[in-house]
Order: sequence, then C-alpha cells, then structure tokens
Amino acid sequence: MSPRSLEAEAIVLDCQDHGEADLIVTFFCLDIGRVSGIAKGAKRSQRRFVNKLELFSFLHITYSDLANSSLLFIHDAELHASFLNLRKNIALYTTATTIREFILMAMRDGERDENLFRLILWALHNLDMKQPHLSVLALFLVKFYACIGYKPQMHACLSCGTPVLSGLEYRFNYLSGGIVCSACPSTTHQAGIRLSQGTVKILQSAQDMPLERLHRLKFSGPVLDECLNVLHYYGRHLFQRDISSWNMLNSCGYMGKRLARQAQR
Ligand SMILES: [Zn+2]
Repeated sequence: MSPRSLEAEAIVLDCQDHGEADLIVTFFCLDIGRVSGIAKGAKRSQRRFVNKLELFSFLHITYSDLANSSLLFIHDAELHASFLNLRKNIALYTTATTIREFILMAMRDGERDENLFRLILWALHNLDMKQPHLSVLALFLVKFYACIGYKPQMHACLSCGTPVLSGLEYRFNYLSGGIVCSACPSTTHQAGIRLSQGTVKILQSAQDMPLERLHRLKFSGPVLDECLNVLHYYGRHLFQRDISSWNMLNSCGYMGKRLARQAQR
C-alpha cells in the first residue's frame, strides 16, 4: 500500500542539490513546523516544481512520510506566493536572507510555531510590498524573539522593576535581555547599550501591537539604528555566533549609505 498523502502550507527556507536530479528542500510549515523533504526529479521536472522550490516561496505542498527517514517525500507543490519583488532587489533579498538565517538558527527539525509562521509571511509580504526593509527587519526581530521565548523586557527596569519613566536613561543589557535604568547601580548598567526614550517607546509598541496592525509602525533615523543595533547584539548573544547575513547587509552598504544620507541632511 502506498503511504498516505498529506498536505501542508509551507515556506521554503533552503534548497540543496541532491544528486543529478533531486532537491532536498527545507520548509517551515504552519502545522508541522520545520521539516525537510526530497523532491525527486525536481531539477528535471518542468511540470510539478518549476519556479516553485525557490527560497521564500509560499507553497501548498503534498507529501508523504518516508519509511526509516526523517525526510518527507514531496509529491507536488502549488504556489501561493513567490514574492517576486524580493528576487529583483538585492536589499530586499538580503533582508529576507537575514530573516531566514534567524529562523534556521532558532528552529530545529520538527519544531513548530504558528505565530512564527504568520510572522514570517508578514515579513515576506511587507518586503515584497517594498516597505522600508530595515524597518521590516527590526519589527520582525522584535516579534521573533517573543515567539522563540526570549522576549526582551522593555517595559520595566530589569534590576529594580520600576516601569519606564520619562526622566531616566535606559541601557539595554543584552546579557540579561532587557533594559536597566540609570537609577540602578552602574555595575549592571554598564554592560548595556544606551537607548533613547524614543527607541524604548517604539520597541514597547512593537512588542504590544498585534501582527495585523504592525505595518503601521515605522522605524526610521537614529531610532532605527539603535533598534537594529540592540536587536543584532541580542541575537548574537542568544545564538552565540555571528549573523553572517547581517554582515552582508552591512557590506552591501545599505546601512552605511542610509547613515551617510542622514549625515548630509
Ligand atoms: Zn532600575
């Protein structure tokens, strides 16, 4: 008897050649989380898989479980969205690649999270709509850390527990994952990155705002720089490694160019 055919909503996170004709594809799926599957003959098939098994594509896949293997057998894929604009613009593509790297670092095979699935779609959709890419990245990361159980404490001082007050200065202590106020002893205070009140406020808003309204928040200027800096350092600390695509964002000059433009104003 042939194995039962199953279906899933899936986002393509990785695609590797396997032999002459096959592809091994890593997906993040709504119901079954991170999984990898083999698409037999995908490099030759012009019918079933052409232009579908591309990074970031949002698909409806038909698959079955393979005996004695953690790999799925991918029968077919239907395209919901290819996010074509990502493939035409290197800044958008590099941002999507950075988002993908965070997901691959955080989620192991078999781990699922419906909120994260929706967040990834939100980010890809907003990038595809050509929303400011670094603002999308910052908003994604704020929500992403909450999804994976490392929501930074932005509403009260980690050390004394006092809710954020307008007269105080705050630093983000990425070792403990939250803000520390300037009234607290400098030993805990020193290990952090200084944040303006505007940055603290917008990070709080991003944490509190539901996904369907998140696009209304726009990070820009020095606040965006501070947010990205903090979110980057926090991620490097959590995963204990460099975020290599972040270096690509930098080396492509996007952050640098934007900062240079600001300096000229
Ligand atoms: Zn404090």
